[in-house]
Amino acid sequence: MDLVDPFGRTIRDLRISVTDRCNFRCTYCMPEEGMKWLPRSDVLSFEEIERLAGIFVERFDVDGLRLTGGEPTVRAHLPVLVAKLAALRLPASSPSPNAGRAPDIALTTNGATFRLLAHELRDAGLHRVNISLDTLRGERFLEMTRRDELPRVLDGIEAAREAGFAQVKINAVIERGVNDDEIVDLARFGRDNHVEVRFIEFMPLDASGHWMNDKVVGQDEIVAAIAAEFPVEQIAARGAAPADRWRYLDGTGTVGVIPSVTKPFCADCDRVRLTADGQLRTCLFATTEFDLLALMRGGASDDELSMEIQRAVGTKWAGHQINQVNFIRPNRSMSQIGG
Ligand code: SAM
Ligand code: SF4
Repeated sequence: MDLVDPFGRTIRDLRISVTDRCNFRCTYCMPEEGMKWLPRSDVLSFEEIERLAGIFVERFDVDGLRLTGGEPTVRAHLPVLVAKLAALRLPASSPSPNAGRAPDIALTTNGATFRLLAHELRDAGLHRVNISLDTLRGERFLEMTRRDELPRVLDGIEAAREAGFAQVKINAVIERGVNDDEIVDLARFGRDNHVEVRFIEFMPLDASGHWMNDKVVGQDEIVAAIAAEFPVEQIAARGAAPADRWRYLDGTGTVGVIPSVTKPFCADCDRVRLTADGQLRTCLFATTEFDLLALMRGGASDDELSMEIQRAVGTKWAGHQINQVNFIRPNRSMSQIGG
């Protein structure tokens, strides 16, 4: 049965945060110190994640699961969770291309320890990986992430390519005055390494609250910078995917931009999010959450959990209001929600 929101959008993608903790402290995401971590007892167990994901996949035909955080690889035994999710099956009657089979399982990671996990995760059933890389300069990497880990992240990207995932992509958040002079270098890195780079507009989800509109480098500016060096043409129809994509005219791959601020894609959004403490959110910028953890630990049946999921989806709004006077910053930041 489809999960359809009041604006006719069908939910097909569940983002699951497996932890709010992280081994980095990216300036656009977390403060250097002072993050308050969830008590471990409030974090969903693998069995609880499996149960909730099972409801989404088996009852509601959700065919994409993405694990994120915080940094998902700091959660011990992550491949065990991936194997549990890979054992789920979409109904044979599902409209999904994966009908009767496992959902598509993806991971977003900072990549620093990916070399250690790549093969185990692939063997457990992980299909796709996005690794974050905002700069190719060691000193700047240290400034942006507050960790001196550029070589290990580059090695993590290499490990992901070697492990043979169906897809490896790079996520690069661009912040004006911080790394906007590296757009072309990052695009070149993607071309040279045969991975798609997806530039992400800086969003007001940083825990330190330093986001300002003039720090956003918009899609038009990003694409113009790339096109001046490497001519591109836009690829039609992104569907529900968040990135607009371009093809390099010389045939050397593709590049994407996630224009959450300057060209929001809310009208096509097919996502909901589950936080590490079991709260269902229908938007990154939602101001309400639905407490599936309390329901589940209170003994709710799958039918009752399904009803709560439908009730939550029934409140999904048309779109976020960044740039408008009535925009309210959510009370949790990116790493606490699950990006
Ligand atoms: N730790 C993993 C990582 O960094 O890839 C996964 C979680 S992270 C919150 C998911 C994505 O959100 C990353 O690509 C990160 O760069 C991005 N992100 C974090 N804060 C952001 C912000 N304020 N605006 C835009 N993207 C942001
Ligand atoms: Fe950690 Fe990812 Fe946030 Fe960076 S963006 S601090 S790696 S959760």
